[in-house]
Amino acid sequence: PITESSKIWMDGSLVDWKDANVHVLSHGLHYGSGVFEGIRAYSTDQGPAVFRLQDHVDRFFNSAKMLLMEIPFTNKTIFDAIKETVHVNGLDSCYIRPIAFLGYGEMGLNPLMCKTSVSIAVWPWGTYLGEDGLQNGIRTKVSSWQRHDPNSVPPAVKCTGMYVNSSLAKVEAIKSGYDECILLNPQGEVAECTGENIFVIKNNALITPPISSGALDGITRDSIMRVASDMGYQVKEQTLLRSDLYIADEAFLTGTAAEVVPIASVDDREIGSGKPGEMTKRLQNAFFSIVRGENGKYKDWLEYVV
Ligand code: PMP
Repeated sequence: PITESSKIWMDGSLVDWKDANVHVLSHGLHYGSGVFEGIRAYSTDQGPAVFRLQDHVDRFFNSAKMLLMEIPFTNKTIFDAIKETVHVNGLDSCYIRPIAFLGYGEMGLNPLMCKTSVSIAVWPWGTYLGEDGLQNGIRTKVSSWQRHDPNSVPPAVKCTGMYVNSSLAKVEAIKSGYDECILLNPQGEVAECTGENIFVIKNNALITPPISSGALDGITRDSIMRVASDMGYQVKEQTLLRSDLYIADEAFLTGTAAEVVPIASVDDREIGSGKPGEMTKRLQNAFFSIVRGENGKYKDWLEYVV
């Protein structure tokens, strides 16, 4: 459940949490015409630091551009507004949700007539897939739902309406007793999870599907690839089939909400010993020390709120 913080940024001003409302005839509610981001701020010994804020704001604007959606604020204004929203809420660590959506004013499918509204909410959010999953790994299955065909809707866009696909797969996972689903693209290649990218380790190489397999260009994904390569591991973007997952030495998923979570099994096939592997644990530990500001090498990835 969402734990309320006190203020939400809405179209340029900070309003009380309970007043951050929109009209039922907002275009975004009916047609899924919105773009959003998921960002985290972590507690460090210099106060809260937002992880890779500029990259998230850039992806936000790129999502809008791909949908021909005009965000009526500059990149810098949104960047500063995110820092301000974290700061005024006095949270040490939090999840941050910027959203731009077509608002009230016009109905009908043509989105070009609608005004875009932008909000930024923050709230405390613990581990997304559970503390046990983070420590011991999660059970996954391959979904019967496919990731979007790029000629239907572009998987590169973090568009609100597109998450019906993720929700269908998430519900499928939960109803059938798993923690998370892995989605294949229409060609049968592994794309990603419902809200996370996927990695496998095979013969000491770190492998993740290319963006062209239908994966979101995840910022955690990019961070892990960079850290792994700095650690001296071979890192490859390579097409994966579901059978490649079954015989991986290790596997894990990455995302802002989920962070770095070991995969214990895929379709009931244990990955490795079924316990988090050594490389996964090393990368997971490195990730947490970086976001908490304990590794100066990656200090450029942290945006301190004050
Ligand atoms: N794939 C999907 C579908 C997602 O929603 C997310 C979360 N934004 C990710 C991957 C992971 O991306 P990131 O590491 O930037 O949070």
